Amino acid sequence: CGIIGYCGHRPAVPVIVEGLRRLEYRGYDSAGVAFLQGKDLVTVKAEGKLANLENKLAAQNVYQATSGVGHTRWATHGLPTEKNAHPHLDASRAIALVHNGIIENYQDLKKELVAAGVRCVSETDTEILAQLIGFYLKEEGSLAEAISRALSRVEGSYAIVVVSRENPGMLYAARKHSPLVMGVGVGENFLASDIPAFLPYTREVVFLDDGEMARIDAGSWQVMDAATLEPIAKEVRHIAWD
Ligand code: GLU
Repeated sequence: CGIIGYCGHRPAVPVIVEGLRRLEYRGYDSAGVAFLQGKDLVTVKAEGKLANLENKLAAQNVYQATSGVGHTRWATHGLPTEKNAHPHLDASRAIALVHNGIIENYQDLKKELVAAGVRCVSETDTEILAQLIGFYLKEEGSLAEAISRALSRVEGSYAIVVVSRENPGMLYAARKHSPLVMGVGVGENFLASDIPAFLPYTREVVFLDDGEMARIDAGSWQVMDAATLEPIAKEVRHIAWD
């Protein structure tokens, strides 16, 4: 039930895990992170508390990646197992996705994907969106277009953040009926379901609205219409509270 994405100059995984801890108040049953290791997208997930995830991460080299995503899950579709925990990969491991919300029509989309030869591995609604983006990425070539096309097929609620193999150091995000905010730092940018996730690093915030897509890297950010990909001008607001 919490999301964080980071692009910047720090090791991403510790920033992400700390951000997830600041979102713990939202409640969760499992947690996970995704980041690039060389040319591969790596996911590390664990049932239960964040400490379980941290124990698993201790066995990995997590200090190289400077971008990535993290998630605490409140299971709605599929048991709270490691396999069903986010991030979810598409079948060709080109993208990893974290999601808060519910994809209402995932069973119809799943049938379509399975008929097209896509092998799904979890019981979640979320994996179907990851698979759909991966499927369209092969046809569209551009990640923004693949995400936009996938979202046009989806009914329900979502805040998503996507990390991809072909766009290292860059994240895409979108929202509809689920919270998502952007934190604008100096040489680093954040996406999260709530401001406390990145408050130790920046107080400059862009509030994303339903139907918007955002793209961040370490030094720039952009908001666009998720359907048309036309740029949208957004205001950066200063958060004064602690
Ligand atoms: N519906 C998704 C799942 O069950 C997302 C749950 C959440 O918002 O944490 O995996």
